[in-house]
Amino acid sequence: MTTSYYDVIIIGTGAGGGTLSPCIRCNTCDGFPCLVDAKADADLNCVRPAEQYDNVTLITEAKVKRLHTSLSGREVIAVEAQINGEIHFFSSDIVVVACGAINSAALLLRSANEQHPNGLANSSEQVGRNFMKHQNAAMIGVSLKANLTEFQKTLAINDFYWGDADFDYPMGHVQLLGKVNADMIAQESPSVLGLSFQEKNAFEAIASHSVDWWLTTEDLPDSNNRVTLRGDSIQLNYTENNTEAYNRLVNRWTQVLKMIACGERIIPASFYFRKKLPLQGVAHQCGTCRFGEDPKTSVLDINCRTHDIDNLYVVDGSFFCSSAAVNPTLTIIANALRVGDRLIERMA
Ligand code: SF4
Repeated sequence: MTTSYYDVIIIGTGAGGGTLSPCIRCNTCDGFPCLVDAKADADLNCVRPAEQYDNVTLITEAKVKRLHTSLSGREVIAVEAQINGEIHFFSSDIVVVACGAINSAALLLRSANEQHPNGLANSSEQVGRNFMKHQNAAMIGVSLKANLTEFQKTLAINDFYWGDADFDYPMGHVQLLGKVNADMIAQESPSVLGLSFQEKNAFEAIASHSVDWWLTTEDLPDSNNRVTLRGDSIQLNYTENNTEAYNRLVNRWTQVLKMIACGERIIPASFYFRKKLPLQGVAHQCGTCRFGEDPKTSVLDINCRTHDIDNLYVVDGSFFCSSAAVNPTLTIIANALRVGDRLIERMA
């Protein structure tokens, strides 16, 4: 067992950026790491620049098991982590949890102790609740005309974001997917493990003739949609809501594509495959430690410090009170920069 002291500990997952992008607009952008360091991800834009500072230490392959508080329960006094099978304890003036909405909530729940029997910072009983992840769909429009595009993710449509002529409520957002390939389509096939030659050819043909779309509809905060623990495992309880808006968006976008097909003859004969992302699709996870001014109804104050514990912050998608219908990343980044300023002021 070892112990170490730092001014600030940030617990999270990370991924990076140059000022002039080396992007080659390849066909493996969506869902893949970038091999030429062109993606504005956390590794390139945050972790690697931070590593340039002498007073920053990056520890990888460390599993944070729980946080320990003082006897008063008002401060975190140790971060317990498992590294190469050994338990290490780290301490600091400020602890920032940034593991993503699901794992941040799970860490707080897992750290329950005598002072915080329902989990750290959970006097409101809101930790883990109001989990949101969007209602997302992939839609593949297949045409007789080949689509030779390599880098497809170039167009986004918000015409139905606030509703439609016959629907006064927000429906959501539509954008092009990164180009779908035969392997991705095969993954959705029931017979993926033993694909016949004909099936492989069919998937190749679909992929080379498809235009691929991504649809996002907002899901609404529901306190019963939540992260809980079952032993050492994380459990997600989630019941879909706002489904009428989602169904309308999918149907409306199919209608638009068919109008293009008829009017311009761009897609002379077409099929529309739709797939709703299952519960495992949690890339847009948010909620679970919502922020607010009332400690009875929120986990974090407006600067993302927990109401219950003076030196504990949660800075990721957990603070969201609602999720809009676009990727939450830019809001997470903007909020992290804002909270960073508050931390600098506090440490000064
Ligand atoms: S398209 Fe995406 S993955 Fe490909 S080089 Fe550009 S940023 Fe990287």
